[in-house]
Amino acid sequence: MSHVKIPLLGQDEGELVRFAQSLDQPAYRGRQLFEWLYKKKASTFEEMTNLSADLRSMLSEKAAVHNMTVVKRQESVDGTKKFLFELPDGLRVESVLIRSERKQKEEDGQAPSVRTTLCVSTQVGCPLDCTFCATASMGFLRNLRAGEIVGQVLSVAAATGVDISNIVFMGMGEPLMNYDEVMKSAGILIDGAGFAPRRITVSTAGWVDRIRQMADEERKIKLAVSLHSAIEATRRKLMPVTKRHSVREISDAIEYYVRRSGRDVMLEQTFFAGVNDTDEEVSALIRFSRRASCRVNVIPFHSIGNTGPTGFSATLRPSPLVETIVRRMREAKVPVFVRKSSGVDIDAACGQLAVRSPAPDETVVPA
Ligand code: SAH
Repeated sequence: MSHVKIPLLGQDEGELVRFAQSLDQPAYRGRQLFEWLYKKKASTFEEMTNLSADLRSMLSEKAAVHNMTVVKRQESVDGTKKFLFELPDGLRVESVLIRSERKQKEEDGQAPSVRTTLCVSTQVGCPLDCTFCATASMGFLRNLRAGEIVGQVLSVAAATGVDISNIVFMGMGEPLMNYDEVMKSAGILIDGAGFAPRRITVSTAGWVDRIRQMADEERKIKLAVSLHSAIEATRRKLMPVTKRHSVREISDAIEYYVRRSGRDVMLEQTFFAGVNDTDEEVSALIRFSRRASCRVNVIPFHSIGNTGPTGFSATLRPSPLVETIVRRMREAKVPVFVRKSSGVDIDAACGQLAVRSPAPDETVVPA
């Protein structure tokens, strides 16, 4: 007999029903487990008070709620919190909790609306090798299971007591290369934990077949595409994945997605001095955005000196022209939003996530 307990987190309602039946329990016990795990966010079987004591003890023997632990928490001066998780096989991933305020319209006289966004990882490391991203320096170790993705959300909610309002699949990894587990975890967050699909965003470096698949399957979650350059040669240099899926193919896939789904796509764009901030680059970006009426989210370039690769990335500098470029794009009627950086001091900002192995001995700031 195996002593490994089955982790229940990551199982959808149908699977939990079958699991209950495998223990000679009626189907509704599976649905109760689904409620306890995701809606009521129980972290132990003891909390599941509408299950009999016998069933609870049988569950504790055979199963575990989940099997990942927060091994470190760090807090930035701006309030951003970073969580380091250890998975059952000893590998580690990070999640980042970002609080942001949005001003309401002046005349409403209301307090700003507060959003708390959790940025989750979908792979341990990443195979894509984007030259400006620290995660690339880890290489690719493995895909996360749905339970390990949902586990990041539930563990952070439990550890902080924060009511997470939005989830972004923008941590370590390329979510669309782990399509099935990512979509399964999104489904559980929607059906089980009650997140509205529009509060969940998946960000991709341009895995085109899966972009089309999302449209075909009528996925209601939001889609973001990291573009960084609409010119083939530049993008190949910045994001080698372009050799597999060209700028044209990505544009076609986005156009298809927008047409089929009726939903818009957000492009993510960072400007590097002398690389993708020239007139020609900006014109190409404007044409690209207009083709499928995309919004553009400008992300400031975050230093990856501590964590990232050397080589080409070492010569990348933030563009001093961002303001001028943004003005030009607005004149061309492209909706642009400049994202604020969060958590730079704790290497928690976009592109800074990388887990060094063996883990460095750092001071833990209680969050
Ligand atoms: N693989 C997915 C999601 C992870 S990256 C993707 O490519 O979209 C999350 C976002 O951070 C992407 O838009 C990525 O391009 C951006 N990013 C990566 N490194 C960065 C850096 N050093 N500074 C700013 N943004 C960066």
